Amino acid sequence: MSDLETKIISPVPGSYNLANYQETKASFTWEDTAQELSFHKTGKLNAAYETVDRHVDEGYGDKIALHYVNDDEHRTLTFKEVKDKTDHYARILLNNGVTKGDRVFIFLPKTPECYISILAVIKIGAIAGPLFEAFMEDAVKDRINDCQGTVLITDNELVKRVPKKDIPSLETILFTEEIEATPYDSSRQEDLVEWVDEDDGLIIHYTSGSTGKPKGVLHAHRAVTHHYQSGKWVLDIKEEDVYWCTSHPGWVTGSVYGLFAPWLNRATIVIQGGRFSAEKWYQLIEDLKVTTWYSAPTAFRMLMSQGDLYKSYDLSSIRHVLSVGEPLNPEVINWAWNKLGFRIHDTWWMTETGGHLIVNLPTEPIKPGSMGRPFPGIEVGILDAEGNELPHGSVGQLAIRAPWPGLMKEIWGNKDKFDSYFQYEGWYISGDLAVQDQEGYVFFQGRDDDMINSAGERIGPFEVESKLIEHPAVVEAAVVGKPDPIRGELVKAFITLGNNYPETKELLEEIRIFVRKNLSAHAAPREIEVVKELPKTKISGKILRRKLKQAEIEKSEKLHV
Ligand code: ATP
Ligand code: MG
Repeated sequence: MSDLETKIISPVPGSYNLANYQETKASFTWEDTAQELSFHKTGKLNAAYETVDRHVDEGYGDKIALHYVNDDEHRTLTFKEVKDKTDHYARILLNNGVTKGDRVFIFLPKTPECYISILAVIKIGAIAGPLFEAFMEDAVKDRINDCQGTVLITDNELVKRVPKKDIPSLETILFTEEIEATPYDSSRQEDLVEWVDEDDGLIIHYTSGSTGKPKGVLHAHRAVTHHYQSGKWVLDIKEEDVYWCTSHPGWVTGSVYGLFAPWLNRATIVIQGGRFSAEKWYQLIEDLKVTTWYSAPTAFRMLMSQGDLYKSYDLSSIRHVLSVGEPLNPEVINWAWNKLGFRIHDTWWMTETGGHLIVNLPTEPIKPGSMGRPFPGIEVGILDAEGNELPHGSVGQLAIRAPWPGLMKEIWGNKDKFDSYFQYEGWYISGDLAVQDQEGYVFFQGRDDDMINSAGERIGPFEVESKLIEHPAVVEAAVVGKPDPIRGELVKAFITLGNNYPETKELLEEIRIFVRKNLSAHAAPREIEVVKELPKTKISGKILRRKLKQAEIEKSEKLHV
């Protein structure tokens, strides 16, 4: 850890929503801090009302709520327009017999209609099930079947990937083209909001499937407090911000930090259609003067691999940048800081946690390699195998004192799985391993299952991977434990090389020595295999270490028969 602690990046001077972390943390309660939300005043709660309608009632109806950009198309909608469209969709859902608690799936590309559909479902008290637009038939079928969705909102294109016959619960399919073509008289101003209890179901998200079958994580309306507060302090949203979250609302980041958190804080959001393209992304930042940008390590690594491309664009509007989903390698933070001139703020949370738990705040120093410190109101514990708290500096299970407002309500249809997160009294167990330093900074070590045990030493893959990609030839790296008769496991690295670096024995040896010298002898990979690309979760693009490891296990089993 001493290596990781050396290069601290100080905060950029400025005025931020949360000025003093230590003082805020000391006096924080979730009840106090959410007084700004309307349900604390009126006693009536609905997350869709809080997220959009409230702003219209409070006089901000004309403010631009969203920019939609897809190639040459550019649309904007005000909060009033978003509210009216949401009412329109909600009316149609009601006309189709949708009632409180029904699961309504949304299978749409990243368009305003996708966001509006989610809000419409929530507005009438049903549970929204957003699906990522790149899902193929089986992914769509498995998720709707898992929680018996009855209604699906989709479009003429994506419906081709909906195997209706294999989804018996599905009664109705609604098409955005038809909804858009149906006239709606917004001057009617019907009261469509279903007021709900804090614990009523809000949205169901399926996890990324990095460690097995995706789990249906059900969140409750109470989560808005967490969404609002983390949007305010971590995203540091101000009303004048142009905020761009690159995730699709089918993933929890795309809904919580792509829709709820920014709109609860009344930001103007950017919805970008189409696939990743470094040129288009930089261009979008320049054109819309994006101020706040939330993306993922994979995307930042891809931009980094484009070298000087950033120099052709004006990125000066950017004032705050965040990352989530996978470990953020120090190399990437240093690249952004040295070349692009901004800090990337890592955030750690999970589908199950419903909101940020460990964060880098804009007012606090960043220690590259660390995910940051607990959000105010969140207590972190590093636990041993019996659930006892370990002292600072020890690797253990990353646990959070439960509950908090964003915490999931249930895993759909799987009480045993749900209970498995709470096996130690008072704690939520994340399944990740981490170390916490004296100052409270938490360093991710790997998923519990990814930890390598070599000759009695525990080695976290993340640190080794981060060192590997510091070598100029290495673009991406995944490190796993390969079964070894003497050591138990040995450290094996899979890497992809940059275009200008042909694979040679000498180069691989140089890379090995680079890690040995700069990290440690015991963690340096004993084997390095060059691959064209790393296996990743089909769509969310997370590196699948378990797949690489499984292949190594199978290979070694073959050798032993
Ligand atoms: P599944 O639960 O289906 O196996 P998943 O865990 O990848 O998939 P998500 O809920 O999308 O599904 O991801 C949460 C996990 O992502 C965390 O448990 C952690 O392993 C990883 N993660 C998220 N943010 C970070 C981060 N900032 N640094 C390191 N790892 C992170
Ligand atoms: Mg998980």
